[in-house]
Amino acid sequence: MTDAVEHVDILIVGAGPVGMTLHLALAAGGRKSLLLDRRPQQALQADPRALALSHGARELLEQIDGWPTRAATPIETIHVSQQDGFGRTLIDHADYKLPALGYVVRYRDLAAALAANLAPDALLAEAEILDITPGSDGTTVALRHAGQLRMLRCQLLVHAEGTPGDDPAVSVSDYGQHAVVCEVKPTPGHNKRAWERFTPDGPLALLPLGDEYSIVFTLPPEKADAVMALDDDAFIAALQAQFGNRMRFAKAGKRSRFPLALRQRDTLVKGSEVWIGNAAQTLHPVSGQGFNLGLRDAWQLAEILLRDGVDRASLEAYATSRRLDRRGGAFFTDGIVKAFSNDCGPLKLARGLGLFALDLFPPARHFVAKRMIWGARAWP
Ligand SMILES: Cc1cc2nc3c(=O)[nH]c(=O)nc-3n(C[C@H](O)[C@H](O)[C@H](O)COP(=O)(O)OP(=O)(O)OC[C@H]3O[C@@H](n4cnc5c(N)ncnc54)[C@H](O)[C@@H]3O)c2cc1C
Repeated sequence: MTDAVEHVDILIVGAGPVGMTLHLALAAGGRKSLLLDRRPQQALQADPRALALSHGARELLEQIDGWPTRAATPIETIHVSQQDGFGRTLIDHADYKLPALGYVVRYRDLAAALAANLAPDALLAEAEILDITPGSDGTTVALRHAGQLRMLRCQLLVHAEGTPGDDPAVSVSDYGQHAVVCEVKPTPGHNKRAWERFTPDGPLALLPLGDEYSIVFTLPPEKADAVMALDDDAFIAALQAQFGNRMRFAKAGKRSRFPLALRQRDTLVKGSEVWIGNAAQTLHPVSGQGFNLGLRDAWQLAEILLRDGVDRASLEAYATSRRLDRRGGAFFTDGIVKAFSNDCGPLKLARGLGLFALDLFPPARHFVAKRMIWGARAWP
């Protein structure tokens, strides 16, 4: 046990991809911060998710040498449709003069690319926070690390711990859906095309990854139980039934599942604490917005801290600057899930007309595409 208080300028709790991005963006501007995570660093290598990252995300990650070039599969087109209904739209990278609309990367490859740039003393791994005491000029964090009790006093405490648990400051809206993720081999090849197929059970996404598709198969919890229990052949048949026959699937990889809810923190800043990434907002994975949004949180916070320093005004400026992008991301994903995850006849008709309109009316399609590529910068 030690009574000595160590002083840290900026302490980032959570060394996931968002926390590491903030640390590296600050370091690139010459500002030191300390990362802290409760898990060993290798734990990120066990995460089964694949992430669709926008072209805008690639541009930001390249600036901190955090872009996993060889592990990224480009998405050149995105096909959007609904099961047993008319209407479909195709978004094509050629319309935006970009090499790709986005890229698919395994969470673990992204984490490894970011971690490769951390200095040896940048991270306290396997650290357990025991207490957080806010003060008038900073926050004191008591923690246990490598068998030692330590007290860290920081000017700014950044929460990047990922999806929050029960907390009165976080509003929760449960989707009654679970995402089953795994990788499958398609025949013919994917031709760099992603698919978003809406079904009454929830959206089914196919993301090109190497020679395979990374699948996000969204289902009500009891159907997810059943799908998780199937053997590989029966799982492929269930996936095939949900997707249709435009492609054949084979060789299902290991399956994992994630319960889905919209979690939004009401206030991003409290005293000298600030929340970013999934700790600030956890979205439904439809249209792959979550990390893209968290990355923009980290980037914007780093820019403001590097320009204005740490004080109440700069933190408030940060919260204000993120309002439109956060609300837009939540509104976009929540609206899509609610409008598409049902079998209501009139809604199916309206959805079909909507998809038709997107296809026939390029400005509307371009707006949706730009929102996915740039976030709030898509707004005029
Ligand atoms: C099925 C699925 C598919 C998805 N697909 C996409 C996609 O295609 N595109 C996209 O942009 N997003 C996608 N997302 C969202 C994306 O995964 C998240 O937005 C992203 O991982 C958030 O990163 P983060 O660093 O904020 O949190 P996390 O990745 O959760 O990292 C949080 C870190 O904090 C640590 N931690 C937690 N609690 C503590 C504590 N008390 N003390 C210390 N450390 C702590 C954890 O160990 C972890 O290392 C998807 C999500 C799901 C569930």
